Amino acid sequence: MGSRQVSTRDWQGKRVTVAGLGVSGIPAARVLHGLGAVVTVVNDGDDDRARAQAAQLEAEGITVRLGDGATLPEGTELIVTAPGWKPDKPLFAAAAAAGVEVWGDVELAWRLRGPDAAPWLAVTGTNGKTTTVQMLASILKAAGLRTAAVGNIGVSLLDVVLGEETYDVLAVELSSYQLHWAPSLRAHSAAVLNLAPDHLDWHGSMEAYAADKGRIYEGNTVACVYNVADPATEKLVENADVEEGCRAIGFTLGAPGPSMLGVVDGILVDRAFVENRQKNAQELAHVDDVNPPAPHNIANALAAAALARAFGVEPRAVRDGLRDFRPDAHRVAYVDEVGEVTYIDDSKATNTHAAEASLAAFEPVVWIAGGLAKGATFDELVQKAAERLRGVVLIGADRALIADALARHAPEVPVVDLDRNDTGAMLAAVREAARLAEPGDTVLLAPACASMDMFANYNKRGDAFADAVRELAAESA
Ligand code: ADP
Repeated sequence: MGSRQVSTRDWQGKRVTVAGLGVSGIPAARVLHGLGAVVTVVNDGDDDRARAQAAQLEAEGITVRLGDGATLPEGTELIVTAPGWKPDKPLFAAAAAAGVEVWGDVELAWRLRGPDAAPWLAVTGTNGKTTTVQMLASILKAAGLRTAAVGNIGVSLLDVVLGEETYDVLAVELSSYQLHWAPSLRAHSAAVLNLAPDHLDWHGSMEAYAADKGRIYEGNTVACVYNVADPATEKLVENADVEEGCRAIGFTLGAPGPSMLGVVDGILVDRAFVENRQKNAQELAHVDDVNPPAPHNIANALAAAALARAFGVEPRAVRDGLRDFRPDAHRVAYVDEVGEVTYIDDSKATNTHAAEASLAAFEPVVWIAGGLAKGATFDELVQKAAERLRGVVLIGADRALIADALARHAPEVPVVDLDRNDTGAMLAAVREAARLAEPGDTVLLAPACASMDMFANYNKRGDAFADAVRELAAESA
């Protein structure tokens, strides 16, 4: 859709407050100003960067209020908020009292898309969103459709709906924050991959978090895709208000029942989008077509396949799209084999739910873990992984929390507690892991924690791991 097709009539003179001078706020303010709205940006911070951005926007005719994100500007008719702003902020209480609607960045994009805009296939979940959306886009491309992976993945929906490029369908990643602020979004079909406690400080409770994720199913027209192994996702489908004829479609790593996709003898099969699903199943792909073929990633592939099939994509394109797909760096990425031990980088496993999934894919495994726990507990994770562990190397600020859980649930597993945070710490960790490993084992970096105590981000942590493995390989060559 070209921007020329957006009607400016509804926006002329409308007083819109944009909350947050950030990656979503600045473009939203510009777009709304361009449509003729009278825009005021409010921002809590008042640092040099904010001042420079404010000066730029002011020069374009947009009012900016720094250092006061709490007061509702006089006459506000609509708030467009950055998705990260917490719902309990005073600005939103003031908006509710004044009967002013609040939209997030996704809602704004949804409302501004043109009359024959591409339908959205939407994905959320605690883990696996980015991977699934990329797999989905790869499948849709293999089917010859014009598509892109967009949304929380780092591609602005606003840019996409207002840009010049035309699409047949979009593969959209949505975070729970974005869903919270997207009341009128209606996807063609949507999937919730899994639900584990995350961001509870923002949402207030697990129920509120689940309810926000569940919004993705509202008004779906063809399929609500849920995870059979995670009944909470199916519950969200049951509670959703969908269009007549929209179906609940499960995905499972086991044999699928009718209206499910699943796995039989190493084959991904579809018993949902076939004729006579009581009797028939359609082969889609081999598990080895999935990259990497770890169980959690096969689940992601099934969810992507379900959404693609809901859009009418042929089985062959599912297979070709999965074969073409290459995961982003640091997601269960093969690094090297040294001394018959395989080294895998899953630095992106920044929470326990993600680490649990990647640990389940390897056995026996030497686990490198630790960092910033963000309030998580490790008992359940350690209990589930205990049997597979050859040994554990702990790094980072909150490693004692993991050490305690290991002492409780896996007392016989050897643990190296590395009290270092210098630049050589990762090399020391890899050396310790190599010492614990036996031929045929896997050494897995799946920290279950954020990285910022020792590294700039999870990418840098994964890079440090790969560098350390290279050094180890050079030493043993
Ligand atoms: P997100 O976009 O939701 O953060 P990613 O696709 O980037 O998800 O994957 C993040 C991490 O989550 C991966 O490195 C992996 O450890 C883990 N993960 C991926 N898919 C799943 C899944 N279906 N269930 C559990 N953990 C997963």
